[in-house]
Amino acid sequence: MPTTIPIRTVISPGRYVQGPGAITKLGEYLAPIGSTPLLVSDDVVWGFVGHDVEASLAAAGLPVRREKFNGIPTSGEIDRLVAVIADAGADVVVALGGGSTIDAVKSAGFLAGIRWVTVPSVASTDAPTSALAVIYTEDGAFEEYRFFPRNPDLVLIDSQLVANAPAAFLAAGVGDALATWLEARATSRSNSNTMAGGLPTETGTALARLSWDVLWENALPALDAVRDHVVTPSVEKVIEANTLLSGLGFESGGLAAAHAIHNGLTAAPQTHGLAHGQKVNIGSITQLVLEGAPTADIRDFIEFTTRVGLPTTLTEIGLSADSPELTQVAELATVPGETIHAMPFAVRAVDVVAALKSIERLSRRIRAEAKLPEPVAYVAHQH
Ligand SMILES: [Zn+2]
Repeated sequence: MPTTIPIRTVISPGRYVQGPGAITKLGEYLAPIGSTPLLVSDDVVWGFVGHDVEASLAAAGLPVRREKFNGIPTSGEIDRLVAVIADAGADVVVALGGGSTIDAVKSAGFLAGIRWVTVPSVASTDAPTSALAVIYTEDGAFEEYRFFPRNPDLVLIDSQLVANAPAAFLAAGVGDALATWLEARATSRSNSNTMAGGLPTETGTALARLSWDVLWENALPALDAVRDHVVTPSVEKVIEANTLLSGLGFESGGLAAAHAIHNGLTAAPQTHGLAHGQKVNIGSITQLVLEGAPTADIRDFIEFTTRVGLPTTLTEIGLSADSPELTQVAELATVPGETIHAMPFAVRAVDVVAALKSIERLSRRIRAEAKLPEPVAYVAHQH
């Protein structure tokens, strides 16, 4: 959103709730927002949370109507949900699930003119708190960002549910959240507009930095704990960093190259089965290379994110330095309006191709020097 005067702004959800067993309080927090909720989740998530959600809503005197989410936040799926909202006479729509469910529900709630609430079942992205959604084509390629005039009225996350899920979800969230500081730092240096529709504030930039610090301190012990499905103080801190700090930090601190490169990677079908945060991590390393970041910083980032379990080579996202798709990836990442243009210097597609190609050999050497495992090739499952 271009502005003619230098507006600085921060936006945020109305309330954020986090804790073990928080799902059992959903009805209590939902009741002040609406009287006729529509719950949206896929069958897997509903299998985990349905019982507690029904009991919680019943205790708060709220009716239970649940609609199945069909998997990809496409414009067709969103329009279908808008029709279901109208049919149900709902005054609030509740997303229970991961980033895809959440993005579809935010979009549908906005189009239907009602309020929306997010209940992430995993801490794998920073989608839950924001006032925007990423829309994909039926094939899973990035289509557009949609912006809304409001953030969710409520974000509620149950730490025990997060700990019960495979640790790979939390690791992906760490990848998404580490990018937040790299991108907010770049946006601050270039004094570019953020996703919140203004220049970055000290607040947005500081929250992005806090997310980074919390993760460097807590991500590895939190992942250990989640492998045993237990909630420790480290797990709570990482859930907050992945969800709230990263959400506020990316939206009000700014996105730059890492997410644009993620969006570009959707042009390579080989990467489609990977989590958002896994692809974002390749974007973060590519951004560091584009910036000419200090060699020690790049080394530390590659070593740390390898230990987290994130991809740090093209091999691990189904590509190689010779993949012809790298050109399309770079072209999509640098289209006009992409957040890569918030970098404090001009970035051309050829620069992105060079940086992407370079990370294969760079990461392999750094991993070998640190005695970390060699990359294992990722093979996308065919549809
Ligand atoms: Zn993200």
